[in-house]
Amino acid sequence: MGAPVLPTVLFPSWGLTELKNSTEKAKETIKKELKSRPLESMIDEIIAERLKPEPSVLGRGDYFEIPDKMVMFYKYSYGGQSKFFHELKENAVLYGAKCKSCGMVYFPPRTHCSECYSETSWQRVSNEGIVLSSTTSWYATSDFFDVVPYAVGYVKPLDADTGILQRIDLRGKEVIEPGTKVTARFREKRIGVVSDFWYEMMEQD
Ligand SMILES: [Zn+2]
Repeated sequence: MGAPVLPTVLFPSWGLTELKNSTEKAKETIKKELKSRPLESMIDEIIAERLKPEPSVLGRGDYFEIPDKMVMFYKYSYGGQSKFFHELKENAVLYGAKCKSCGMVYFPPRTHCSECYSETSWQRVSNEGIVLSSTTSWYATSDFFDVVPYAVGYVKPLDADTGILQRIDLRGKEVIEPGTKVTARFREKRIGVVSDFWYEMMEQD
């Protein structure tokens, strides 16, 4: 028996048209599959399959290789960008950084200005922004499965000079045009990651 096959939509290899046509059907299939077999159990099965004893072989060169697995739990630091993630998680507000010398406002924030290399200071930026460019994505990792298709694009807050690469809700549209006005929306349960927020089109006047 081979390793269990993960739902195709997590690792899609189809063409765009096929994927587009099959998305609704695939959503139902994966939802059913995940309900009956949690993803963790499928991954455990794959690991068990890969760890099956193999005949003794010599690997590259003259070195004997055996299969093994490594599990790591770790933390990483956001370093100089910590305030951005802390404020996003705790207060659902967006912080950029302003150059102390030339006044450039960066979003996402940078500790130093890329124009004049001076230090920056923290600066709140608007939830409202303008789409600089975007593309529509029919591919998703499990985090975004429920929102396929969605747009990914650069959004510049109205009071910033640079934009952030972020998810934009399509709201039934096929594409989001450059120049579209959008506003930030925040997850109710935020954990301090960039996907704690996304953008949606603003209601047209
Ligand atoms: Zn500067």
